[in-house]
Amino acid sequence: NRQILLASRPVGAPTAANFQMVESPVPTPGPGQMLLRNRWMSLDPYMRGRMSDAKSYADPVPVGGVMTCGTVSEVIASELDGYKVGDLVMCFASGWQDYTLSDGSMVFRLDPNMAEPSLALGVLGMPGFTGYMGLTDIGQPKPGETVVVGAATGPVGTVVGQVAKLMGCRAVGVAGGAEKCDYAVKELGFDACIDHKDPALAEKLAAACPDGIDVYFENVGGKVFDAVMPLLNAHARIPLCGLIAQYNMTSLPDGPDRMPQLMRLMLSQRIRMQGFIIFDNYGHCYPDFLKAMTPWVAEGKVRVKEDRVDGLENAPEAFMGLLEGKNFGKLVVKIAD
Ligand code: NDP
Repeated sequence: NRQILLASRPVGAPTAANFQMVESPVPTPGPGQMLLRNRWMSLDPYMRGRMSDAKSYADPVPVGGVMTCGTVSEVIASELDGYKVGDLVMCFASGWQDYTLSDGSMVFRLDPNMAEPSLALGVLGMPGFTGYMGLTDIGQPKPGETVVVGAATGPVGTVVGQVAKLMGCRAVGVAGGAEKCDYAVKELGFDACIDHKDPALAEKLAAACPDGIDVYFENVGGKVFDAVMPLLNAHARIPLCGLIAQYNMTSLPDGPDRMPQLMRLMLSQRIRMQGFIIFDNYGHCYPDFLKAMTPWVAEGKVRVKEDRVDGLENAPEAFMGLLEGKNFGKLVVKIAD
């Protein structure tokens, strides 16, 4: 059983030295347990938080512990009621490893005939669920309103933009580079997508949002939020989902303290900003989300892009790339057929 451990805690951007691959015997399930053969694993930005021991909503991975992740897996041995050999499952409490011993917690059964099981890690899994709930429940978009989202071609952003369009909104993305921006407009149907590497980001975003911004789905922070702030309309809503531009920071950015400006803006424009952690806030809504999203994906109303990496051993490098925007679409690693 190959396993990738957290070898040390990163300072700033993670490096290869923060990970270690080890081999251990394949475990045997005891009473109340089952053994999963992991086929696909998910790489997600939240894992940067798990590598750190700073205060957060979840416990960190201990140094020397297996890196956590969600996997699509096959049951290959079971001493657990309700699960049998051959079942296909999604395990949200899995690890960067070939095999996972599970007691069934955070496990959802998948249709064994599902054409693309890896979608359970993206559009039909945690990130898609995040985009959908944050947009609909906190964003409360109304037809004709303008919705802006950063990391627009990732699994959260693609769902936010496409669902906003399905709800009759103007959808404006922000992404890194011309290729991603073209994809957002031409393939996903965003009305516009602005490159955050462009020095004229603020001007171009303003031009793409002639009626201001009603919902800003915050995935990024940093200069994208700076560009958004002056465009926010009265009563704008900000689902605060992620701040990926800050995850590798080791200190506060230089420059003046802009907190008073932000507080004033929130007060004068009566803005509502709410942070959320998807399963904590909305776990009970997962079946309803699947009911809405599954037909949209099947009918092509919500389009999907995956960035597939082959081989467990390549997970650390792919993860480091995710934090720099090297992925194009939902990043998944194929572990086994
Ligand atoms: P993505 O697959 O979109 O990957 C992250 C992307 O962030 C990169 O590809 C890159 O895209 C972008 N990015 C990285 N650094 C920067 C930067 N400095 N400035 C602007 N963009 C940057 O990730 P997900 O769709 O899985 O996640 C999106 C966000 O949602 C993350 O912040 C994540 O932490 C958050 N999240 C929160 C959850 C919750 O429960 N609150 C649950 C799931 C995700 P590009 O090249 O376009 O810049």
